[in-house]
Amino acid sequence: MASYLYDLISSRIPSRDKVFIETLDNRKITYDDLDKGSARMAGALVSLGVVPGDRVAVQVEKSPEAILLYLACLRTGAVFLPLNTAYTPTEIEYFLGDAKPRVFVCDPTSRDKLSAVATGAGAAIETLGDKQNGSLLEKAKGQSETFKDADRGQDDLAAILYTSGTTGRSKGAMLTHDNLASNALTLVDYWRFTKDDVLIHALPIYHTHGLFVAMNTLLLAGGSMFFLPKLDADAIMKLMPRATSMMGVPTFYTRLLQHPGLNKEATKHMRLFISGSAPLLAETHREWREKTGHAILERYGMTETNMNTSNPYDGDRVAGTVGFPLPGVSARISDPDTGKVLAQGEIGMIEVKGPNVFKGYWQMPEKTKAEFRDDGFFITGDLGKIDERGYVHIVGRGKDLVITGGFNVYPVEVESEIDALPGVVESAIIGIQHPDFGEGVTAVVVPQKGAQIDEKQVLAALDGRLAKFKLPKKVIFVEELPRNTMGKVQKAALRETYAGLYK
Ligand code: AMP
Repeated sequence: MASYLYDLISSRIPSRDKVFIETLDNRKITYDDLDKGSARMAGALVSLGVVPGDRVAVQVEKSPEAILLYLACLRTGAVFLPLNTAYTPTEIEYFLGDAKPRVFVCDPTSRDKLSAVATGAGAAIETLGDKQNGSLLEKAKGQSETFKDADRGQDDLAAILYTSGTTGRSKGAMLTHDNLASNALTLVDYWRFTKDDVLIHALPIYHTHGLFVAMNTLLLAGGSMFFLPKLDADAIMKLMPRATSMMGVPTFYTRLLQHPGLNKEATKHMRLFISGSAPLLAETHREWREKTGHAILERYGMTETNMNTSNPYDGDRVAGTVGFPLPGVSARISDPDTGKVLAQGEIGMIEVKGPNVFKGYWQMPEKTKAEFRDDGFFITGDLGKIDERGYVHIVGRGKDLVITGGFNVYPVEVESEIDALPGVVESAIIGIQHPDFGEGVTAVVVPQKGAQIDEKQVLAALDGRLAKFKLPKKVIFVEELPRNTMGKVQKAALRETYAGLYK
């Protein structure tokens, strides 16, 4: 009996006494602890009636024990279903009703408000806290430190991750053991991770970035991680001399750039800074390089596909691009309406195919069918192009495209012009309903503190650089853009805020 992904992880353990996780309060969890702790946790799940194929839904704070639970799911053949810690009971009710998990694990402090929701969905409720506490951990303590893993092959489900979709109901992306294993193996090679790597891990672990890109890659490399509960620039600065690498969303880099201690000396022990989940401003890339001497490596992926493209390890890491399709991944650009494959350089829908691409949306066969082409390519929903050197550029989500007077305006094109202006930190281009144009191109701009910049200056600077139809009809100044925890600008929220602008 063998669990495909867990087997792969255990086959690559460098030595059992090697530390895998070190926490800020100096707890050290070795690979041996991972193996024994996940065996005990697996025993606890089985005692709750979990059988292969069952879903185990999890809404817990970040802790090493949460990782044991993830590994325990792989070992019992259960499907790990992590949920954002920010979800409310009403949202949890939807996810549990949709996924019908056998067990729902939540933080001890949420048990009272969530137990009726769990019972209503037919799930047993257990708790797991971030202080080595909770009923599940208590149950695990009484279990054996060895476990006979369930038989799970490459095509069996390892996880369901609900997408953070901003429109309609969230969809559960079904990821197989091989989707996760193949992508992590590719990333180990492509980014040159080895057992000597120590990753600064300050991302949440309910999202693909912190969970699979970071965790699985380091597990398969046999490396180690510093585990931070959340982004904490001071703590990261202190850890850098003992770390080799960091994976972050763009916000990590903009925050660290404001830290007075950031310089070449502070980062000299680091070999790699990776960014993803949201576009990294070219300006951030440039400033980071100037201050630290490191070129941030930007990559592109999504919940449904794991990682698709990456800037190279050796060679040019080009700001504003997400690099090349990873080995084994095919990427192409198509006409969003007809699906016809477009010529190199043209802007259209990014489509991808490879062992990284998910199996479909949980119990949504129609939706799944609609998002795949007949030849197996997945329609990502991201618009982009591939340049003459093969670098992929993302110009925005399909649903963020602005159509004004019948013309397409790709937000990134206008945003990068505005971002380059003196006195501007960043900007977001959105389409707002407009009586004449259908949608009016609207710029929401964050000025630098104390900068004297107004709408007239922005428009004057863009005039002549962009076609007239791309120019914002209005420029709005705000202190900051609304972002979710993964650093993504919430354009739907902006569109809602300014919905009446042209009425
Ligand atoms: P999620 O499923 O939450 O990981 O979100 C995936 C989406 O994030 C993608 O479809 C892209 O729109 C966006 N994304 C991820 N990485 C990047 C990147 N490097 N640049 C721009 N957008 C990105």
